[in-house]
Amino acid sequence: MAKDASTPTKMVYYFGKTKTEGKGKAKALLGGKGVNLAEMTSIGLPVPPGFTITTECCDSYYKHDKKLPAGLMEEVNAAVKMLEKELDKKFGDNESPLLFSVRSGAAASMPGMMNTILNLGLTDKSTEGLAKATKNERFAYDAYRRLINMFGDVVMGMEHHMFEHAFDAVKKKYKVTEDTDVPAEGLKQLCQDYKAAYKKHCGHEFPQDPVKQLQLSIEAVFGSWMTNRAVRYREIENIRGLLGTAVNVQSMVYGNMGDDSGTGVAFTRNPNTGENKFFGEFLINAQGEDVVAGIRTPQPVSEMPKWNKDIHKELMDVKKTLEDHYKEMQDIEFTIERGTLYMLQTRTGKRTGMGAVRIAVDMVKENLITEKEAVMRVPANDLTQCLLPSFKPTARNAADVLAKGLPASPGAAVGKLAFSAEEAKERSDAGEAVILVRRETSPEDVDGMHCAAGILTSTGGMTSHAAVVARGWGKCCVAGAGEVKIDEKAKKAVIKGRTFTGKDTISIDGSTGEVMAGTIETQEPKLSGDFTKLMEWSDKYRRLDVRTNADSPADSKRAREFGAQGIGLCRTEHMFFESDRIGHMRAMILADNETDRRAALKNLLPFQRKDFEGIFKAMAGLPVTIRLLDPPLHEFLPHDPAAQKELAVDLGVKASDIKARTEALHEHNPMLGHRGCRLSVTYPEILEMQVRAIVEAAIACEKKKIDAKPEIMIPLIGTAAELKLLRGKVQEVIDHVVAEKKFTGKLDILIGTMIEIPRAALTADQVAEYADFFSFGTNDLTQMTFGYSRDDINGFLNDYLSKDLIPVDPFQSLDVTGVGQLVEMGVQKGRSVKTKLKIGICGEHGGDPASIAFCHKVGLDYVSCSPFRVPIARLAAAQAALASEK
Ligand code: PEP
Ligand code: MG
Repeated sequence: MAKDASTPTKMVYYFGKTKTEGKGKAKALLGGKGVNLAEMTSIGLPVPPGFTITTECCDSYYKHDKKLPAGLMEEVNAAVKMLEKELDKKFGDNESPLLFSVRSGAAASMPGMMNTILNLGLTDKSTEGLAKATKNERFAYDAYRRLINMFGDVVMGMEHHMFEHAFDAVKKKYKVTEDTDVPAEGLKQLCQDYKAAYKKHCGHEFPQDPVKQLQLSIEAVFGSWMTNRAVRYREIENIRGLLGTAVNVQSMVYGNMGDDSGTGVAFTRNPNTGENKFFGEFLINAQGEDVVAGIRTPQPVSEMPKWNKDIHKELMDVKKTLEDHYKEMQDIEFTIERGTLYMLQTRTGKRTGMGAVRIAVDMVKENLITEKEAVMRVPANDLTQCLLPSFKPTARNAADVLAKGLPASPGAAVGKLAFSAEEAKERSDAGEAVILVRRETSPEDVDGMHCAAGILTSTGGMTSHAAVVARGWGKCCVAGAGEVKIDEKAKKAVIKGRTFTGKDTISIDGSTGEVMAGTIETQEPKLSGDFTKLMEWSDKYRRLDVRTNADSPADSKRAREFGAQGIGLCRTEHMFFESDRIGHMRAMILADNETDRRAALKNLLPFQRKDFEGIFKAMAGLPVTIRLLDPPLHEFLPHDPAAQKELAVDLGVKASDIKARTEALHEHNPMLGHRGCRLSVTYPEILEMQVRAIVEAAIACEKKKIDAKPEIMIPLIGTAAELKLLRGKVQEVIDHVVAEKKFTGKLDILIGTMIEIPRAALTADQVAEYADFFSFGTNDLTQMTFGYSRDDINGFLNDYLSKDLIPVDPFQSLDVTGVGQLVEMGVQKGRSVKTKLKIGICGEHGGDPASIAFCHKVGLDYVSCSPFRVPIARLAAAQAALASEK
């Protein structure tokens, strides 16, 4: 191929003593591995020299019909010459050959994308040379057979079993079971057999020209970029916009040259706890793949001084050099060849949430990073691990994963299956740990949900009832696990052909959505001083306030301990489900005249007042936004005939009347139906009771010197006229109760609205005339903007995600492009009328870091989220503020 304008200009970057060309270059060009090899070389670490072929070449390869760019092999050959000079050895030489490893390396880590090829450059002749030079024939032929195997597999697409048979035959011949016991003669024979297998499959001899081997390997690495598994991995991990993979060609060093050699992997700090202690393992007389394969048990690096004190010291120096340079915890691979240490790889080490917090805080103390950098370092969502129980990593690695649903509410739960809320309650009251397994949950199930160790549903999305309620409690929930087929009547669930009954135990992981068989060991979190420190720094740098969605004094108290600055959403309907209230609520719904309705509401009033008092007390001095009744009324009525009969007896009415009322309340689209403010329009007495309860509770608190700060929020407003009418009614009740109670103290109750219907956002300037505050209900706003049912989206969500029709579940992370426009417009229009209009968000997005960044950008005053997400939101808000400083 001729060079043309699209041929990359510089294609090969050398790293070694002679020169290091890739220093400071971008990962996008050299890949993560390539950049770090160059960096390590440039800071004087002992890296076997080599070169990196750029990702641009991979891009060009695909743009030109899978041909290497013109001139690439010339540049490769020049780099090989330079290596030969630096190491005083010749590539594939027949005496003492220079050999290479060839590895892929994209800008984003893609583990398992392609296997490595080692010992490249060995041929029949050079293997003899290697045997002589190392005085180790066994080692040389072992290296050769590994090359033929890896080359056959990676470059020519041969399957492992094609070689396996030959190895078994040799082992049989020498009457040994372990690979390592096959003598040199046997390995020599094996190389012949492998070459025969290679020829049989590939139709040509194993290449005896080292340069040809190298070229084919480079092509194979480029080819690996578009294999199904690589493409799929990028899809799953949402890796986009990369040019391709780089290729790293590096001179080989050997950890299997005897008892003075070895290999290991390590983290510069403990990745589980974050402790500043070198954490790793090594194996004497072994190659890297032996550590990974787990054939032999490695020793901890702390044991290394017994074997080689100097190498251990050198490794500790490497740790310091690396951390001083990267200012980050590193994950490294190293090899010791005949008493000399070599660094093969370094990258930022993955860590747990606990580890991340401790490392960030420690590094500030060690003057490696600043407070701001520490705040930016910790992935906000990972804080969950610091707050909720999780599965022990070792135990979960061995887990039998049955199905995967949505990670609806984080945490880890283990229990026996219970198929109805009543069963869950009964069995957990009797001391059993149960997982409530339902197709979906409804408000009727709350008791059983509360008692259960965890909740698993087979339908329903991230804002389904189960998900929202469980998150509020910090209870583990996996939603929408479609593979779980539930037969509630027969009390069994079938998952991929396996049947589970109430006697079986399952474990569910609300952070990953996994459903696992049996008991997986869990671990309880501990809030550390480091966590508190990180939160302190977050508070220092954030602009957004963080409130919580809570509807009980206990949840409010917990959220306050987590740092909530008030309540952004108290869903009053949750207060009506407890056993002492639901009867009155149902009586109110079943009443066919205002007088009876008012009578039932009167019975509910004391409960509401007491709840509000409790919440005001828990949140004393902080704002509490109380939303008036929102869900459609049918949600409060029993739907099955048996329960309807029972209710009829309780209320002394006919079961047929209850059935008739339930049917009358039936709506085809209840989420678009008679709910939200529309209920108050039809039944103003409901609003009256709720507002009265709020005002009476606030007055009672003021009398007890508790600083109550209620804010009354009217849901599902679509027009300014609705708000004008209902605001008037709310104000009337406030004035009325104040007069009735002859209250003369301070009572400053704000009246505002949710913006959750697109029309409210579009006309936010008109709506703002009657609102003291806005709170974006982005659950409904998303539902109505996309026209996706928030309860049923799971039926097709995966199809949309896998076909790239939407990038993420829009109920989980705010759709900035579409729904975000409505939010932004709502803010601008609202503030065009009232510059100081207080604006927040209380949809589930209020606890999602990416959505929080958007809320910061568009100038919201606060986000509100479930109690366990409060710390995440505090950190995410700080990260958003710091990111916009740049
Ligand atoms: C919303 O719609 O975003 C909201 C917070 O209200 P709910 O989830 O209760 O409908
Ligand atoms: Mg809503």
